[in-house]
Amino acid sequence: MLFDNKELAEKMIRTQIKSRGIYNERICEAMKRIPRHLFISGSAKQRAYGDYPVSIGHGQTISQPYIVALMTDLLQIRETNRILEIGTGSGYQTALLAELAEEVYTIERIPELLKRAKMILNSLGYVNIYFREGDGTVGWSDEGLFHRIIVTAAAPFIPEELKNQLADNGILVIPVGDYHSYQVLKVIQRTGTRFETRESIGCRFVPLIGKYAFTDE
Ligand code: SAH
Repeated sequence: MLFDNKELAEKMIRTQIKSRGIYNERICEAMKRIPRHLFISGSAKQRAYGDYPVSIGHGQTISQPYIVALMTDLLQIRETNRILEIGTGSGYQTALLAELAEEVYTIERIPELLKRAKMILNSLGYVNIYFREGDGTVGWSDEGLFHRIIVTAAAPFIPEELKNQLADNGILVIPVGDYHSYQVLKVIQRTGTRFETRESIGCRFVPLIGKYAFTDE
């Protein structure tokens, strides 16, 4: 390897995550363990631990480390949780979820990205991740309800199906807004039939494309 990824990962946690107020030890320790550079290919690998999103091909990006940590923190994951992720992309966020929860169900619409993420995650030894190719805006209805749902692409609105697939006391984290400019991270908590929404910070994601999202232009 050309660089010491352990040292880079530690520095990333110190200067990008903790310095911005995320002290959740389970998240920080897991992010130190996960070899982020393996989720990025070619020369972009050199940028794996930097404070920005990085291209993963097919017009998509691996999210900035801080955004990954923040969204995970907002989810308030418990070890027994079953999680649904929409937008596998590189698989890095998937790895973090798999470190923290019991089961992760992840959906990606671009077959090549899903294949690559699956290969890396399998080679790292994760056995609690289930993969699906397709449109995640309809959810994963044959698997029952999810304790947590995370959408890692910009949605024009909150897909109703995802709300319906949230278990009681479940939490959904999703960036909502215009994909040409920026979005706001929304946190939706379900209590019975009630959905309470609050807003976190502004962010920028690639578009969520599907039946209940943007159309493929
Ligand atoms: N968490 C990922 C983010 C990847 S970018 C990472 O950090 O690597 C967002 C991903 O969402 C892209 O790979 C894109 O192809 C995927 N995506 C967009 N719309 C989707 C949809 N409707 N269903 C599933 N995946 C979708």
